[in-house]
Amino acid sequence: MRQKIVAGNWKMNKDAAGSIDLVKELTANAFPSGVRVMIAPATVFLDRIAQATKGTGLEVASQNMNAADSGAYTGEVSAAMLQSIGINATLLGHSERRAYYNETNESLVHKVKTAMETNMEIVFCFGEELADRKTDNHFKIVEQQLEVALFSQEGLDWSKIILAYEPVWAIGTGETASPEQAQEMHAFIRSLIQKRCGDAVAETTSILYGGSVKPTNAEELFSQADVDGGLIGGASLKADDFMGIVNAI
Ligand code: PEP
Repeated sequence: MRQKIVAGNWKMNKDAAGSIDLVKELTANAFPSGVRVMIAPATVFLDRIAQATKGTGLEVASQNMNAADSGAYTGEVSAAMLQSIGINATLLGHSERRAYYNETNESLVHKVKTAMETNMEIVFCFGEELADRKTDNHFKIVEQQLEVALFSQEGLDWSKIILAYEPVWAIGTGETASPEQAQEMHAFIRSLIQKRCGDAVAETTSILYGGSVKPTNAEELFSQADVDGGLIGGASLKADDFMGIVNAI
């Protein structure tokens, strides 16, 4: 059985008080049973949010993690640091990190490897740009992203990997992939996992959709056979909107 998951990526939004207020608003709700609800707040607030969410069922992830164990990497955070404050999951490969911080399929190999070695769960983000889709290269790009960063690595623990397909043209743009486009790509991704890792892994790996998911379009997206939930940006910053999406699953 694959898990249903809704994860909110807060990006560089909310100060200390605003982060705690949003956590309080979210945890005042009962989450639907059988659904994992996660948030990825700014790194600087992870410690206090980990404390504030203890025992609430709301899971907390980091937005990023360095590949190295420790050392001279100014401004960076390691898996051990995150785990020392109770954070055991991280997003990796978000399109904004690829676009603004030179993260590549190749550099993600090291981050994925470190996550596996340190037993961190990852939400691995990937997806094509608009130009790729316009030139009908979207399947090829997605296959390459998965091949380099994941499939080519030996001995991955797939029970620690959540995939998040996020077409870059739909992130923060208000333009959503249609339910049919999302399902078509998710089915393709699942077929790749099946070919490279076998039936059991394909059947149990959750594939989230991300890109302008809102309470108004979530239900139709989540009803697609291979869409197991969502990675939510803008709409995760308001409790009502995020809960509307969580409850649509
Ligand atoms: C994201 O950044 O992962 C995302 C999906 O953003 P938005 O929902 O705002 O498009």
